[in-house]
Amino acid sequence: MSLGTKFRLLTVILISICSLLLLPTVSVKATEPVATNIRVGTHSEKTRFVIDVSDNIEFRIFALSDPYRIVIDLPQMVWRLPVDVIQRNLVGKRSLISNFRYGYFRPGLSRIVLDMKKPTRIKSAFIITPAADKNYRLVVDLVKTTRKLFLTSIRKSKSKKSKKVVNKIRLGRVINLNNQLPAAAPILKKRTNDEIPKNRATVGATKPVIVIDPGHGGIDPGSTSGRVFEKHITLAAAKVIGSHLKTLGRYKVFLTRRNDKFIRLRKRISIAKVRGANLFISLHADAIKNQRIRGLSVYTLSEKASDKEAADLARKENKADVIAGVDLSTESPVVSDILIDLRQRNTMNESSKFAVGLVRHIRKVTKILSNAHRFAGFAVLKSPDVPSILIEMGFLSNRVDEKALLNPSYRAHLARSIGKAVDDYFSRN
Ligand SMILES: [Zn+2]
Repeated sequence: MSLGTKFRLLTVILISICSLLLLPTVSVKATEPVATNIRVGTHSEKTRFVIDVSDNIEFRIFALSDPYRIVIDLPQMVWRLPVDVIQRNLVGKRSLISNFRYGYFRPGLSRIVLDMKKPTRIKSAFIITPAADKNYRLVVDLVKTTRKLFLTSIRKSKSKKSKKVVNKIRLGRVINLNNQLPAAAPILKKRTNDEIPKNRATVGATKPVIVIDPGHGGIDPGSTSGRVFEKHITLAAAKVIGSHLKTLGRYKVFLTRRNDKFIRLRKRISIAKVRGANLFISLHADAIKNQRIRGLSVYTLSEKASDKEAADLARKENKADVIAGVDLSTESPVVSDILIDLRQRNTMNESSKFAVGLVRHIRKVTKILSNAHRFAGFAVLKSPDVPSILIEMGFLSNRVDEKALLNPSYRAHLARSIGKAVDDYFSRN
């Protein structure tokens, strides 16, 4: 083997090890139930969704409309599913399920969200006792219904606050999924210190405060190359950028999340506010059909998108709450309407100033898209008084970008450029 070949081999091994380090970092307790497989079975009269689990677990199931979704809430789980579990289970043409996701939702709570092609009725949901050396199985049977009946059943379950389906669990462990809760209310409430933002007055009295926001997380994986999820890429990058900014010694730095958990878009904004942020940087990495397109781009808020791609991207990124199965029907539509008030105009100008400087520094270390500073109605950038930008660090659908984003030394380059842009921005302000 020539020296060059050896070197290439070593590089490949190093990159593989680094990708392994990108695995989710939620701590695993020995007592957490383990999900080992998911199977979707399509029958003429029903679609059956089955989860293999190590324990007899409590669960809660409910439906959401627009888009049609079925949400299954579970205790915090360890996910040991086959890598291709989603692709493998989406083949049945007659299946009512068009896609599904699973993952950490908040402390104590894991979640599965099924995207339904049609209005669906939860016919039954129950747990089957394991036969010899098999797992427990949580079985959900879904049947077609009409939109009218679907909406009526959602309304009923909200007004009666009943959890008919949960009562169908037939086994041992006491079901304690409080019947008083509204359809999409939280269960198993518990907050970690990590989640509770510190009082604004206690931080950032002198140094500028920067909040780094790793996009997606937990039940919301973001985009994927089929090999790696956006949520892991953004977290790994946020940690490197965050610690680089800290080592500069001039800034207070916070991350909106430090592990693989789901955070709502509005919560990300409120973390920035409570931390007293002077700058908010949200990190993402897109995946698109055209695998040849690569390069980084920087986005700031605008009512009117700079181009169609930016508008599409904002629409996609704004869907995080829908993807995670959050019931938005009782909330003001903060995500869909991006209306900008006068106070926000000044903040938008500041955001733009930072974005322009950032593009100038970043183009020296990586390929950027043409017109790399773009505008669109990203919900996460809508803090009225925190200058906010969103960086799409590259395309996971492009092999070169994907490889770079998995490479720690590339992330370090990115972090240093961002550091320079941050220095420029605060020295001028
Ligand atoms: Zn994203």
